[in-house]
Amino acid sequence: MAFTAMHPTLGRVDATLPDLGCGSSWLAVHRVRPRVALRCPECGHGVHAKVSARKLRYFAHDPGRPTDCVWLNESLEHHLLKLELATAIRAADWHAELEVRAPDGTWRADVLASSHDGAQRVVWEAQLSPITDEGIQERTERYWAEGIGVCWVSPGGKAPWIGTVPSIRVQEPRDGRPWTVVDGPAAFHFEHGTWIAVDDLELTAFISWVLHEQTIVHRVRSRYRRIWYPTSESYRRRNLIWTTSRHVDTETRHDAMRQRQEERKRQREEQERRAEQQRKAEAEARRIEEERQREVQRQEQERQRKIREAEQAVRWEEQQRQRQEQARAAEEKRLRQEQREHQVAVQWWAELSLTQVQELRDAVAEPLWKNQATRAEFDTQGTSADNAYGIAIYVRRRLHGVLRPSPASLHRLPPVVPVYVRNTREAHELINTGNIEPARVVHFDLPDHEQMSLI
Ligand SMILES: [Zn+2]
Repeated sequence: MAFTAMHPTLGRVDATLPDLGCGSSWLAVHRVRPRVALRCPECGHGVHAKVSARKLRYFAHDPGRPTDCVWLNESLEHHLLKLELATAIRAADWHAELEVRAPDGTWRADVLASSHDGAQRVVWEAQLSPITDEGIQERTERYWAEGIGVCWVSPGGKAPWIGTVPSIRVQEPRDGRPWTVVDGPAAFHFEHGTWIAVDDLELTAFISWVLHEQTIVHRVRSRYRRIWYPTSESYRRRNLIWTTSRHVDTETRHDAMRQRQEERKRQREEQERRAEQQRKAEAEARRIEEERQREVQRQEQERQRKIREAEQAVRWEEQQRQRQEQARAAEEKRLRQEQREHQVAVQWWAELSLTQVQELRDAVAEPLWKNQATRAEFDTQGTSADNAYGIAIYVRRRLHGVLRPSPASLHRLPPVVPVYVRNTREAHELINTGNIEPARVVHFDLPDHEQMSLI
């Protein structure tokens, strides 16, 4: 079935218009005798005017029709939608032509809407059959290339191309409501930052807004392509929507805000990143500085330790030197002392003649022999430093006393044993040194200065 046919004299006739679009009337083609030789504008086969049970005027192919005519296979539903589109276009005070072919045959439109001056054209395609994305895209671009707007209209739920080209989905009248647009238009909600589908719009109003450019095709900015559908409470992806310039502005404004926010966030993150970098750098610098200070401290401690060691070594050497010096001095002193004592002892003994020495020995020995019958034995080595330059006296192999020790060497005397001297003068000479207990000194009464007296 089709709404248009080619009349042999009137040209193209349109069953949806009272005057068939050419100043004639339906009665001039419907059930007239003789038959008017109407032809299908698509395939050229003969057609005849018909009225459906629902009072719908159309043209039907004559018997023997070709099977490949596009109009032939179109459903009633398709035709009703085309009729509705044409009616709405005419209600908006635009021309509507159905089933229009391009002069060069490059396109064939279901309904072509034209402004009165013919400057503006919008094709409305009732697309019921499946069509590939490439196919619908290509046909859309073909219209655009000729400066013709287009809106694809789907009356069914399954139209995957909705939102990929300028398009709407419509719902046929039900529950007393007229044809309604349920998918395609959207309004931008600034607070929610999203497009919200307008899914309850009368088709006639929508078409009027599109034709008068109050509603325009808009390519949604990529960040807003998930569109909220309140009725189904779900999101759907849409690249192209119908909306008003006010909502496009709102989207632009929101996008600018988002960009500012993102820029601020980026700057904030950049600042945080820099701050973090700086913190890390400072921590690293601190760590290196601490390490350096520890190393400096360690080196300083090492230096101090070496200094201390060197000082100790110097001190030790000095002490060693002093000790050696002291030892040497002590040795010298001791030697001088010994020399001195030796000289004194030599003089001390030089005072006596050998006879006097014997006299003294006898003075010691005789009483022992008389009283105790013991022999006193005098050290055969004579005087010795160990006995303070006196002569050791032994009785029964034990030290009995010391004979006439030198007054300068009394500190060398063995302890306890008595010492024997010639007379009180010698006793006093020893005692006067203060280096011997007077009780230890035993004296006889032998004469002094024999040699001098001899002289
Ligand atoms: Zn045909």
